[in-house]
Amino acid sequence: MLIGHYGPAFIIKAIDKRVPLWGLFIAVQVPDIIWGILILLGVEKANIDSTLISNPLDLSYMPYSHGLISTLCYSLVIVGLLSFLPYCRKHKEVAWWIGAAVFSHWLLDFLSHRPDLPVWGNTMKIGLGLWNYPTWAVVIEVGIYVIGAVWYALAVHGFKRRAGLLFWGFIIVSVVASSFRGEAMSPSSASLVAVSALVFYAVATTIIYIIEQNEREPY
Ligand SMILES: [Zn+2]
Repeated sequence: MLIGHYGPAFIIKAIDKRVPLWGLFIAVQVPDIIWGILILLGVEKANIDSTLISNPLDLSYMPYSHGLISTLCYSLVIVGLLSFLPYCRKHKEVAWWIGAAVFSHWLLDFLSHRPDLPVWGNTMKIGLGLWNYPTWAVVIEVGIYVIGAVWYALAVHGFKRRAGLLFWGFIIVSVVASSFRGEAMSPSSASLVAVSALVFYAVATTIIYIIEQNEREPY
């Protein structure tokens, strides 16, 4: 799952406008950001297997980035660190929302992945395997994303100047790109997937930061 992870980010921002959306965009991808870095460092392992449905990555070893217990730890550590910030001291729920956003990544991965998510270490691998049903995988991922995006846009009463065009353009392009990802994706290596994912997260977060400065009714 890629853009689907941004669904919870939009929904949290719509519910509590004090939480910065750009921060939520980073938070919901924390396990994948760690995965990308650890794949490039050779610590975690993945291979390309083009016979796999929906996602050609055979995620054979990712105990640090995608373990259930390790993801829970990242969430709690991030809540703890953010709690030192004056803004989070003033608005205590903000750190917890960000922590929840980090953990939402694991829950959505649990829904979509084949059993490759370890509970602890590299053992007890679980996953409900929505990827084995490619049409439903796309429908559910795009659905979560679009519902979140529309909810957020309504909550902030739209955007000033051309930011609305940028927002809806970004949503449409990312939906189209991710709908065809399954068929079109035949990467030559897991490192290439890691680099592309990290670049996409950086670009998406930058775009959302610009959009967030142009909400009509920010907090
Ligand atoms: Zn993931």
